[in-house]
Amino acid sequence: MGLSPELPISKLGVLGARLAKPLRAMGLLTAGDLLRYLPFRYEDLSRTVPLAGPSDGLVTVRARIDLIRTRRSARQNMLLTEATISDEVGSAKVVWFRQPYISKVLKPGDRVLLSGKLESKPWGLEMVSPAYEKEHAGAPVHTGRLVPVYSISGALTTKQIRAVLHLALPAADALEETLPDFLLARHGLEPLGSALRKIHFPESMEDAEVADRRFRFEELFFFQLRGAWARRALERKRALAVPFDQAAIRDFVASLPFALTDDQKRVAWRILQDLEAGRPMQRLVEGDVGSGKTVVAAMAMYACALVGYRSLLMAPTEILAEQHYATISRLLEGTPFRAALRTASRKEAHEDASIVVGTHALLTKGFLPKYVALVVVDEQHRFGVGQRQTLLSKLPDGEKEEIPHFLSMTATPIPRSLALALYGDVDFSALRQMPPGRRPVETSLIGERDRAAMMAHVRAEAAHGRKTFVVCPLIEASDTLGVKSAEEEAERLRVELSGLEIGLLHGRMKSDAKREIMERFAGGDLHVLVSTTVIEVGVDVPMATTMVIEGAERFGMAQLHQLRGRVGRSSLPSRCYLAPSHGAPQVIERLRAFVQAKDCFELSELDLRFRGPGSLFGESQSGFADLQRFRPGDAALIEETREAVRALTEADPDLEAHPLLKKKISAEAEKVHLE
Ligand code: ADP
Ligand code: MG
Repeated sequence: MGLSPELPISKLGVLGARLAKPLRAMGLLTAGDLLRYLPFRYEDLSRTVPLAGPSDGLVTVRARIDLIRTRRSARQNMLLTEATISDEVGSAKVVWFRQPYISKVLKPGDRVLLSGKLESKPWGLEMVSPAYEKEHAGAPVHTGRLVPVYSISGALTTKQIRAVLHLALPAADALEETLPDFLLARHGLEPLGSALRKIHFPESMEDAEVADRRFRFEELFFFQLRGAWARRALERKRALAVPFDQAAIRDFVASLPFALTDDQKRVAWRILQDLEAGRPMQRLVEGDVGSGKTVVAAMAMYACALVGYRSLLMAPTEILAEQHYATISRLLEGTPFRAALRTASRKEAHEDASIVVGTHALLTKGFLPKYVALVVVDEQHRFGVGQRQTLLSKLPDGEKEEIPHFLSMTATPIPRSLALALYGDVDFSALRQMPPGRRPVETSLIGERDRAAMMAHVRAEAAHGRKTFVVCPLIEASDTLGVKSAEEEAERLRVELSGLEIGLLHGRMKSDAKREIMERFAGGDLHVLVSTTVIEVGVDVPMATTMVIEGAERFGMAQLHQLRGRVGRSSLPSRCYLAPSHGAPQVIERLRAFVQAKDCFELSELDLRFRGPGSLFGESQSGFADLQRFRPGDAALIEETREAVRALTEADPDLEAHPLLKKKISAEAEKVHLE
């Protein structure tokens, strides 16, 4: 039975040779890779019935092919394959569409297994497009069992993957176990070899569940072990200590045009104390849209400037970077310090700047300013978990071992249930209070009938010099029926709202054009800005009082909340209209929940419930690619794996007693470092 996990897929028989190329495109090269490609669900085809009558649901029949032929249907000009089958009890007709090769594979007299629905028709029993498999000596693979379903890409079918995986199965027992024996024993986990057999070809759902638990455990365990390892590496490092000059900070606060909220004070003071220690800070500030995170970061950056150190402030978009640059420059007026901007399109001299504001351009090779004591990442959820590590590893170590303090900010909080597990190496602060005088944005879910009233409202606001955002899911017209594009919508509104100035903004425009439009909207003649989600995060236009979100069902809760946060940024009353492109019940349910939720903390829990972790963190969150099987609601497993990591690393932080784990984790850490 021995089969090496290293065996190239092309050596797995005729099928392997044929599928090697498309599988390589999916990153699968060897038998071992295939085995590690796990199914995401099962189809239960395990119920076998005789040809006695119609079935309720999916069943498998064992029968003999009596006749089979392929012909072209007259009406639809489509290739139809028709067969009659029989067993000891009865007979049935079978039809397949557009699969003429079936009549080459299956011949009269063949014994077959067919899985599908048995339906009663005037001419007798019928099966339409059943899964099929010739009877053979071993257990069936595609029928008559719990059949694994894989995600596929390109021209591959799940049946092909399943078939070639079945050929690779004998390599399962030769794969090296990745979890130490004591963990398997202590946590009752299935060993790798049998877990792989069970997850791909389970005898029962219990089998599949037992195997799945092992893989979910493994995933979360390694995710957290990497976190612990990173934290340990960090603890060995030093950061530049930034003395907390309370008097100077008080003066700075006194110069602000507003009084800080208690939460802002508490969080800022906490950060300033962190900076004082030589231990690198890793802190995530969670605060609702408009809760005033920028000024908290500004205080920390100012503290660094006071002692001659530099700070970097990184934003996810150019628009936001420019806006931060303007805000920070204003705050620094009357101080001896200045800020510089660094984006893909604008690179200012930064040698004498205490604060460098920018986008990803801050991460480009060769840009390594000296004396960076603090890195602030705004809208952290847009950057991804992995990027934090990358950023850390790219910044100058200095001649000594010092690394910068790290401050991240987000209005997309991580639900409590996940925070500890996923960010074990980060400290959290929350800004739950809003600055005084803010009115909640009046939010409503609208249908076609409400549009006229909405347009009247936009006109009335424009008459008072107030502004409206209209957000569309797409840039230009597309085949996605009914989904509005920014270009079309701008054209339409120019007619419907004639007399008002309508601007268009989207990500494919040149930076200069974007800047000009934003300026015309923020301070100038534009009444309405039709845009894509380029305005999603951070954009601050106090005169904007109305937000219209077209195709609202296409956005996650956190994203809708961010979009809504573009209005209600002054003491003026504001409104947000959610205009879904269709009214499917689950869409309405989700949007209603959004209308009722009270803040970003509640919304992040809702998002998790409605859409799972992918929507929370976005596809770009590279770190989460490792959490394929993760079920965020599974608090018990999160707790169990966390405990396992803690038990392991508390006694033996360098994993000396577990050379295999150590090798795996340090190799991965090294890879991150080199990326
Ligand atoms: P966010 O947390 O969404 O990043 P910002 O930092 O952009 O919020 O702040 C939103 C607005 O509130 C800004 O115009 C800012 O000047 C103002 N602001 C911040 N703190 C206060 C405060 N304590 N009182 C009044 N206004 C404030
Ligand atoms: Mg902000």
